[in-house]
Parts: sequence; structure tokens; C-alpha cells
Amino acid sequence: MIPRRATKIVATLGPASSDPALLEQMLRAGVNVVRLNFSHGKAQDHIDLARLVREVSLRVGREVAIMADLQGPKIRVGKFALGKVMLEVGQKFVLDAARTELGDIAAVGLDYKSLPREVKAGDVLLLNDGLIVITVEAVTGDKVHTTVNLGGELSNNKGINKRGGGLSAAALTAKDMDDIRTAMSFQADYVAVSFPKNATDMEMARQLCNVAAGEHGHKPGLIAKIERAEAIPKLQEILMASDGIMVARGDLAVEVGNAAVPALQKRMIKMAREFDKVVITATQMMESMISNPVPTRAEVSDVANAVLDGTDAVMLSAETAAGKFPLETVIEMAKICHAAEDNEEFKLEADFTGKIFNRIDQSIAMGALFTAHHLGAKAIVALTDSGSTALWMSRHLIHVPIYALTSKVATQRRMTLYRNVRPLFMDTSADRDTALAEVENNLKTRGLVQAGDVYAITCGEPMGAPGGTNMLKICRVS
Ligand code: PGA
Ligand code: MN
Repeated sequence: MIPRRATKIVATLGPASSDPALLEQMLRAGVNVVRLNFSHGKAQDHIDLARLVREVSLRVGREVAIMADLQGPKIRVGKFALGKVMLEVGQKFVLDAARTELGDIAAVGLDYKSLPREVKAGDVLLLNDGLIVITVEAVTGDKVHTTVNLGGELSNNKGINKRGGGLSAAALTAKDMDDIRTAMSFQADYVAVSFPKNATDMEMARQLCNVAAGEHGHKPGLIAKIERAEAIPKLQEILMASDGIMVARGDLAVEVGNAAVPALQKRMIKMAREFDKVVITATQMMESMISNPVPTRAEVSDVANAVLDGTDAVMLSAETAAGKFPLETVIEMAKICHAAEDNEEFKLEADFTGKIFNRIDQSIAMGALFTAHHLGAKAIVALTDSGSTALWMSRHLIHVPIYALTSKVATQRRMTLYRNVRPLFMDTSADRDTALAEVENNLKTRGLVQAGDVYAITCGEPMGAPGGTNMLKICRVS
């Protein structure tokens, strides 16, 4: 029996994980959410993968969420005549928005034509995820003249970031809008928006999803990837306009500098929880496992620390999309999460200090949490329609598992990302007493509680209406 794990695992799918048998093993090993990366592949590839995920999850007998991650306005250099060049420290290099011929050692074209208007002498630009650093000497017309401070190989279409942020590219490109339509065609449970600058970018994404949903009216959770320097001071408004955030350490580190990222990660996780939003910690968590069967000590610590910071989920990128050991990586990651959770500190009282809950459903959720924690209950059960009771409960760390029972498959999938929440299916259309008896049988059959165990249960009366939670009952399993 695999021990219960509260922290969720997001795994990016790609060539290394598209084989049905392997994907099945990965889900069995504990993947809760799969990420389809729209920076790669065609619409049909994503549609096929989404179908495969749904089939495999049915076989495994557990819902997993599908997160469609939009490419966003990645700002890139053009292509080179020889595919790449080797830039040397101290040499001059020109980024030229007007250049039509392929690049060489002296200059290259730009995919992002407005760059010359958005940089000035003294700005530091980072190419290829910060592996190459160049400083702007001057801008003349369409040409950005630079000097190379940190050299290296620069190949076709590598990304450009500006230290400190400030490039104005819109967060949603024409391609993203197409991709939203694709994602909504298979009812993606989450849509991740790359490089949002403010709440407006997220509101725009939400509108596009609503329009694309059309008749079926599916509403995905929206995740804001925090990876631009200017998103940091806007974190609060971005959180309010989103259902969750991703600590997107890859691009973020390039913009704010590596050293600033760990503290930002802690702040973002704390803030997300305070705003009742989910948070995913991403990028390079198990990077060395792209080619090695075991993680480094530093990676183990990194994953464990994200868990202790209180993240809902830890994410795998190339490790599972293109690595040599996708299954092993998931297994190792699950072990690290589990061990870290055993050493969590609980501060429920402190969490509640100075907080006012003025909604009935939220007060019931908090009451259940508090009571279950103090009684040392074996389980908290939330009968939920929208998933919000389970979300509120999961914003506080306690050692009691939360079982969220719902008759809505979309809610079940959405909740797969919530820390310490195990979504389960149950037909909640029965009358209250029948439903309560069924819950207990359901948990007993699954081996989640035994005779004599105490559990707390919340539900609404009448049953099955969203936002109607108004009852808390403490039960002993008969
Ligand atoms: P990406 O986003 O993998 O799509 O670039 C995550 C990050 O930047 O960390
Ligand atoms: Mn990124």
C-alpha cells in the first residue's frame, strides 16, 4: 500500500511519457495532474494526449486533472545560417529587428520586433534562460548593439529576457487564443497563462475560456504563471483574478536573478494560501533525473522545502516530458513529499488568529477543520458540489486527511490539485440520512476508516446545491 500523500504531483507529458503503458504506471505511482505544454507540438497532439490521459485514468480508477499550459509571448531571437553561433566574452553582437537574412556571429534577427523600442543603453539582456548575458551599448533604429558579458552557444529561436523585467509583450498571443479553443475542446481542467503582468491578463484569459466553452459551459481553473519581474508587485491582484499561481522559477529566475527566487517562492506560497488559491512550485525540481536514475541531495532538499513551504503541488517538466527516467522521477518525488509531510509543523491556531469568517459555508468548513484537528479525527469528509469547502479546508495544514465527495466529475478533477484533499465520487442526490450512511460505507469499503474511528463530515441541506454547506456532524464509525 502506497502511503497517503498530501502534496500533489504535476507531471508534464511529452515524448518520454506518451506511451500508454508507461503513462499508466506513472499515474499509479502518484501523478495527480498532467501538464500539456503548448510550447511544443500541434493542436492534434494535445487532443490525442488528453484522450489518452482520460482513458488511462479510467483504467487506473482515479481522476487526474489536465492542465493546458499556454506558450505565451516568449520573446526570442531569430534563426542562424548555421543553426547556432558561439558568442565570446567581450565581443559585440547586434539584435536587429529589421534583419531578414539568417544570423551570424555579428548579428541576428528578432522574432519580437518591438525589442529596440523597449531597451536602452545599460540594460542587461539574458539569452537562452540566462546562460548568455549581454549588455545594451546603444540602440539605433531597429538595431540593439550589445557587448557579450557571459558567452556561450546561442542557437535558433532562443528566448530573450530583460533583467528586472519591463518588456511589454501582451500575455496572450494569437497562438494562445487558438490553443485556448483547443484546450476547451477537451475540457482541460486547468489553463496556465504564461507571463501575465497583471489581473487584466488573467481576466482576458478567463473571458477567452468562457467564449471557447460555448454550449458546454465548462469552466477551467486558471493558473497564473509568475515569471515576470513586474508580476511580483501585482501578485495580490493577479491572485484575486486567478484560481491559482505557479512559481515558474525558470523564467522568473532569469528576470529577478537566481538568488531572489527562494524567498519569493516562500512569499508566493504563503500569499496564495491566504487568498484561498492553489500554488504549484515548478521547474528544475528533479532536473538531474532527466539523465540519472537518482536525484541529487540538493534536489531532494528543494522538493522537501517546497512541501514544507506549503505548496499544493510540485511540478516535473523535462524530467517526465523528455527525460530517461520519467517513472523513477515520479516515484522518487512521491517519496520525498511523503517524508517531508511527516515533519510538517501545524499552526492551525495561528492561522485562525485575527481571521473573520463571515460566510456560513466557510465557517462550517473551518469548524470541521478545527474540531477534527483537536479530536484527532481520522478523516474529514466534505460533501461538495463546487469544491469550495474542500479548498478552504485545504488552505490550512493539518494531519487529518480531507475526503471530498462529489457527484460532479469536473469538481473531482479540479480538486486533484488541492493539497491534502482526496477527491472521490459519490452520488449525492440521495436524502441526507441515506447519503450520510453511504459515506460511511464508502469510506469503510475503501479502507479509509474502521469501526471506532471518529470523523467530521460537512454537507448542505438540502443536498447537492452549490454553496449550501450548512451542517457539521461528528461521527464515530459503527
Ligand atoms: P515554462 O514555465 O516551463 O513554460 O517556461 C515554467 C518556468 O518558467 O519556470
Ligand atoms: Mn516559463
